[in-house]
Amino acid sequence: MRTRLACPCGVRLVGEDEDDLVARAQEHLAAEHPGRSYDRELILLLAT
Ligand SMILES: [Zn+2]
Repeated sequence: MRTRLACPCGVRLVGEDEDDLVARAQEHLAAEHPGRSYDRELILLLAT
């Protein structure tokens, strides 16, 4: 299961599971990178 994602801006996101990671990543994008949105597949592709 992929639960970690390093954002290119340097922030490390960790989720409890894939759904949580996707939610956290989308929240981070909305807060810090307005105008960018990654869908679930792309987030999980980038996650480790
Ligand atoms: Zn970021």
